[in-house]
Amino acid sequence: MKITAIEWGKISIPLRTPFKTALRRVDSVEDVLLKIHTDTGETGFGEAPPTGVITGDTFEGICGAMAHHIAPQLLGKEVDDFEGLMQLVQKSAVHNTSAKAAADMALWDLYGKLYGIPVYKLLGGSRERLTTDLTISVNAPEEMARDAQTAIRRGFDCLKIKVGIDPALDVARLTAVRRAVPAGTLLRVDANQAWKPKEAVRILNDMQDRGLDIELVEQPVAAADLEGLKYVKERSAVPVLADEAVFSPEDALRILQMGAADLLNIKLMKCGGLYNALKIATMAEMFGVECMIGCMLEGRVAVNAAAHLACARQVITRVDLDGPMLCAADPVHGGAAFDGKDIVMTREKGLGVTDVDGFERLGVLERA
Ligand code: MG
Repeated sequence: MKITAIEWGKISIPLRTPFKTALRRVDSVEDVLLKIHTDTGETGFGEAPPTGVITGDTFEGICGAMAHHIAPQLLGKEVDDFEGLMQLVQKSAVHNTSAKAAADMALWDLYGKLYGIPVYKLLGGSRERLTTDLTISVNAPEEMARDAQTAIRRGFDCLKIKVGIDPALDVARLTAVRRAVPAGTLLRVDANQAWKPKEAVRILNDMQDRGLDIELVEQPVAAADLEGLKYVKERSAVPVLADEAVFSPEDALRILQMGAADLLNIKLMKCGGLYNALKIATMAEMFGVECMIGCMLEGRVAVNAAAHLACARQVITRVDLDGPMLCAADPVHGGAAFDGKDIVMTREKGLGVTDVDGFERLGVLERA
């Protein structure tokens, strides 16, 4: 199976409601879609969302990395030299983890298609179902309580509550949400770096003192402030999950060695794909630290790849793969079924994606 052409372009998917966090507001998903064609007729699919406020990757930057660094490395290569291809992708440029993730997942897709096996099975996975939480955007407390009730009606029983815009309101936000949901609903909080370490400890302990029963807090302090993260971890009654602080396997190792977090959030767009995500999961397992699998605001090609990873590693105990559930449409054919909180894997080979509607081609590299 030889790579004969690499195409990239745009897919646009409207959101059900605007997505708001401490870092940004988004009204629709506009992602880069990647197709890697081969001489056997099989195509590998990859996707990368431009999430400038988190990864630094813009739409044009992802396309540029594909055109100038990644695609020229892959053209003409044999998919069977899989580890060689993984190394080429990761070494094609520094940073650019979203473009690398798109290429990485398209290659995993092809490798699974080459040997006729689903990627999660290729990785030894025995889980076939996952349960995801749903994200509630940061707004006024009453509006968030209404959004939480809507999520409960849609069948979700674990909600990720975005906070951090005007932190004075954060305890009121969680109080309103907790009152609005049935007993037993799992609530996790994501501050997206908005708090100072001492402020985070005060807010989190206040929440627990009020009986709000928060399962975990994501990235309470600035990404670069690992000492601050550790400060919160050691003083907060709520377990701390590192998100924006952990991109690469090297970041994960530093956090694990410092004991700076209770949990790690793995996202393909931060680490550059499944190849590096597997390294993070392995290290976390060695340190006895459980992981969450997360996603950006992205369509089902990329989130489906993350689901394959999650089914393959037991150290991934928490699932935040709600990207497709926040979208008002799904242009992707094949792959895992996303139905409310349930994600159900299929036995299709590779990552299972067979086509994507509405693809607008922007660039191609093919053999002359
Ligand atoms: Mg987060």
